[in-house]
Amino acid sequence: MNAITNHLPTAELQALDAAHHMHPFTANAELAEKGARVITRASGITLTDSEGNEILDAMAGLWCVNIGYGRDELADVAARQMRELPYYNTFFMTTHAPVIALAAKIAELAPGDLNHVFFAGSGSEANDTNIRMVRHYWAEKGKPTKSVIISRNNAYHGSSVGSGSLGGMSGMHAQGGLPIPDIHHIEQPHWWAEGGDMDPEEFGLLRAQELEKAILELGEERVAAFIAEPVQGAGGVIVPPASYWPEIQRICDKYEILLIADEVICGFGRTGNWFGCQTMGIRPDIMTIAKGLSSGYAPIGGSVVSDDVAAVIGAGEFNHGYTYSGHPVAAAVALENLRILEEEGIVDHVRDVAAPYLKEKWEALADHPLVGEAKIVGMMGSIALVPNKDSRAPFAEAGTAGFICRERCFANNLVMRHVGDRMIISPPLVITPAEIDVLISRARKALDECYAELQKRDLLNAG
Ligand SMILES: *Cc1c(COP(=O)(O)O)cnc(C)c1O
Repeated sequence: MNAITNHLPTAELQALDAAHHMHPFTANAELAEKGARVITRASGITLTDSEGNEILDAMAGLWCVNIGYGRDELADVAARQMRELPYYNTFFMTTHAPVIALAAKIAELAPGDLNHVFFAGSGSEANDTNIRMVRHYWAEKGKPTKSVIISRNNAYHGSSVGSGSLGGMSGMHAQGGLPIPDIHHIEQPHWWAEGGDMDPEEFGLLRAQELEKAILELGEERVAAFIAEPVQGAGGVIVPPASYWPEIQRICDKYEILLIADEVICGFGRTGNWFGCQTMGIRPDIMTIAKGLSSGYAPIGGSVVSDDVAAVIGAGEFNHGYTYSGHPVAAAVALENLRILEEEGIVDHVRDVAAPYLKEKWEALADHPLVGEAKIVGMMGSIALVPNKDSRAPFAEAGTAGFICRERCFANNLVMRHVGDRMIISPPLVITPAEIDVLISRARKALDECYAELQKRDLLNAG
């Protein structure tokens, strides 16, 4: 069975997939009926499937392939590292060059005094580290009652028991006994869906002040940290009003609450700076990193922490770690990815070329009859599909328009994702203006076809 190749007929691959492979976040029985799309290779921003379709990947995989597909340098580095030292741990008072170099590089790129990295295999693992680390931090400082971590509804912080608890996805909390104790959720700064008649800035301030309310209700002596994505990703690329983050920072400062910026999507250039906290003007004590750290070429994540947090945690033994913390092959691949990002000026390309161009084209989608608003920060954007452009009322049948639109995107060789009735993009950072034109024209075609289908099926009704 080790000879399964792309050369098998698609139907045969799909049948084996359906028989043995359980897909994440998928109704597997339904997928088995339909057959999974088989992706065979990729280059630049383009995926190829087993039927020979060439698909523009406007999601960069799952928000991660920031430098694009097919960079041989990363493959070469991985092969070299596998031959030299494929694995060694960092538990036994031991270390190795790739993890040393990567930690030093991340410390150099990270803002302020975020100078120390605890490595993990993924973003979920890194956020599990953060839960234990902030609680242990306060215990070490003689305040063991400070154990509550405040997060937000509709946040995404991963899928493990801990990180899934931090997240605010109701569908996840409904399965498997989440959340764990001492995680508290406040409302999100999602003006479009929840702002009612309020002015967006006023609403942003109100939602930030929920943090202060929660701290006062729970008691300052109970609260350890606040965690948030600078821009919510999986929740639907929710761009907070400008008033939101400064108020959150003020509240964290006032009550000395640790601020954790989950930079798993925003980090490494996506918002037009190295980190989303720089774009939003905040000073986290801890950053969660993964995804763009290796552009998805190897699984790796981590917690980047301040001098203060590192000193407190490091004073004794922190009983925590993963077999693959600082895996040498993943670390070498991530380091090579960061070299490419830096030497090729990819973050500058985002800020000066790709993001301004994409912003203009993306925001112009708001003139489409199906699009209520178009939001974008750097290279992450969303559009709200609406039954009626003149109001912000949602569809009567929530999620169907988004699903149809995503199917029409695929049919037009474009990957966009839908979150309910929001369509979202997060293309590779290396995308060129000419490729952005292709992305937008396929998106418009998909929107037109979606609109026609909604009309035909009489689904253009507000709820
Ligand atoms: C994807 C994601 C995670 C989880 O990362 P995994 O590598 O999938 O475990 C955590 N936080 C954010 C903001 C993410 O987008």
